[in-house]
Amino acid sequence: MPPQILLIGLNTRFSHTHLSLAYLESWWNRVPGRPPLTRLDLDMNRGFDALAQELILLRPTVAAFASYIWSQPLAVALAGALKAAFPEVCIIFGGPEASFGAPDLLQNHPWIDLVIKGEGEVTFEEVLLRVLAREDCAGIPGVVRRLGPPSAPPPPSGSRSPSSTEQGAPTWVMEPDRPPIQTLDSIPSPFQSGLYGKGHGFTYYESTRGCPYRCAYCLSSVLGPLRSFSLDRVKADLDWFFASDFTQVRFADRTFNQDPARAAAIIEHILRGNTRQIGFHFELKADTLDERLIDLLGEAPPDLFHLEIGVQSTHHPTLAAVDRRSDLSRLRENVIRLRERTRCHVHLDLLAGLPQEDLPAFRRTLDDAFRMRPSTIQVGLVKVLKGTALATAARRGDLAHAPQPPYAVVRTRWLDPAEVVRIQDIGKLVEGIHNPGRFSASLAFLIREAYNNSPSSFYEALADFWRKSGRPFYQFGPEAVAEGLRTFVAAQPEVTDQHRRAFEALLAHEARLAQKVPSGPPGPRPAFPAPTRSPTWRLAPGLRIFWYPTDPLALLATSTAQVPPQERPRSWAASCHPAPVVYQYETDLSRPPRTIALDLPLRERLVLAFIDLDLAPESFSAAAQLVGQGETPPQEWTQALDVVKEKGFVWNVQRLPKSSRSAGG
Ligand code: SF4
Repeated sequence: MPPQILLIGLNTRFSHTHLSLAYLESWWNRVPGRPPLTRLDLDMNRGFDALAQELILLRPTVAAFASYIWSQPLAVALAGALKAAFPEVCIIFGGPEASFGAPDLLQNHPWIDLVIKGEGEVTFEEVLLRVLAREDCAGIPGVVRRLGPPSAPPPPSGSRSPSSTEQGAPTWVMEPDRPPIQTLDSIPSPFQSGLYGKGHGFTYYESTRGCPYRCAYCLSSVLGPLRSFSLDRVKADLDWFFASDFTQVRFADRTFNQDPARAAAIIEHILRGNTRQIGFHFELKADTLDERLIDLLGEAPPDLFHLEIGVQSTHHPTLAAVDRRSDLSRLRENVIRLRERTRCHVHLDLLAGLPQEDLPAFRRTLDDAFRMRPSTIQVGLVKVLKGTALATAARRGDLAHAPQPPYAVVRTRWLDPAEVVRIQDIGKLVEGIHNPGRFSASLAFLIREAYNNSPSSFYEALADFWRKSGRPFYQFGPEAVAEGLRTFVAAQPEVTDQHRRAFEALLAHEARLAQKVPSGPPGPRPAFPAPTRSPTWRLAPGLRIFWYPTDPLALLATSTAQVPPQERPRSWAASCHPAPVVYQYETDLSRPPRTIALDLPLRERLVLAFIDLDLAPESFSAAAQLVGQGETPPQEWTQALDVVKEKGFVWNVQRLPKSSRSAGG
């Protein structure tokens, strides 16, 4: 029977795959006649039992686990189950989490036979050839292997394996490191080799490996120098993607624009060949972006390119402490240029809990990030990864972190534990409330007018409120967010009544835009005279009207930053009259649902609202006075009616078939 060799990756989502395992397989397969490898991308959410059963039924000869920060505990448990079921199985671990914790892994888990450190292709091949030939792996560079007694199943419950100290000798030996592969093109492309079939959904892709920088918290800083696949190879892979069924390709390159000319060539190739509109994701170093690349990115259709930019901190002592080189003023300029000159999604990453950054410095970083006006912001908490310089700082006592993966910081010399939790809360609110963009106008208004244009002050106050009121930090549907924000603002003494009224109008307006079909009570409107005869006009299908005590469209038009602060209260006062807003929703069920507000002058909106209330055109002028419009000559209402007729927003009831005359709009 041929050996059953499993390559096992554990993913946090069903749609994810391990590119690293595909590289191991394509490297192994380049020599014809070798036994096949079985690559398994398993969804961790299925749970231990289901995954263990699947692996056991495959009866492996060799089980190789890719071990990452999120998956190592489960991988270790599954490996133990396999060893218990099949004592002869060879258990191999690789990947970043195993690479830097190999001695502990072997010492504490006697069912693991060996660990591969660093880049895996060549080492794994040599290990596998020896294991299949029943030879030991002594002398293979890049291996950490068990010494002394062979690996064994997990001990029965209640007993434990003797530790190395008790055995009187280390249980492992670390062979010399293996130099990184210099000619990456020597690894056959897993895509062009057919390992992904036609593909589907999302995949990672790497056009380079390694990173030339040395950020103290990052594993890429210790995983070898920057190396690149040739441009021809990358273009051939891209051509393969264009014809595949993948819908998203995420470049895993640490700094996609490290070589600007090469980055431009790749973007140009995508712009020319990507006829299926596959989405691409790149990590950019924004301070080194050049004009040519920004121009090229500007040619991409909206949101086709997702650009992820690591800011981490704008506090200079912090950047110096973690050895992160970044020209912050260039970074700011270029992020703003990307937002102004491209239609790409621009995402900024912040990393809290780094050395030297206290709470005031974090607030400044967050405000700086908002000022760059990215599409989204992520506030992560730094993880102390084995093998990094930050782990050394942790040993010095500068930081304390959780002992379990993902080793998130819980306290630093500059942040107490409660401040760390507060920053996490702020991060969740930014992600759940700011990033979806549903309430962007309401939030911008509130932050500008009531929080001195400081998003950090606003989100900090909101985080305190959210936690004290027991609201969950994981439910951010539009209704829950609107309710939470409304209650929050009502409880803030520093928010004036005038601010609150304007904010509530904007919030209700944006909540309606978030609905597939705007619904709910029609809103406060004056008591208009009852209609005296059957209506002639009716709203076109797909239109709905809601009333507001303050006109949100006027607020949006006048509350932009262009209006000087001293003039804003006057412009709000001008908006302080009951006003209708006309929403149009998608009636074609074959299209994605979408609600927009018609951008019409108030008079045309009033005409539509009066028609919706079955008022006759002769009474429009009197009705308008009830909403503070003063006396308007009747012919102006006739003109406004003509305009909305011409735009197709109203239908003549008499011309409709009898069966549909009574139906609503
Ligand atoms: S954080 Fe980014 S730039 Fe810094 S070492 Fe890691 S991958 Fe390189």
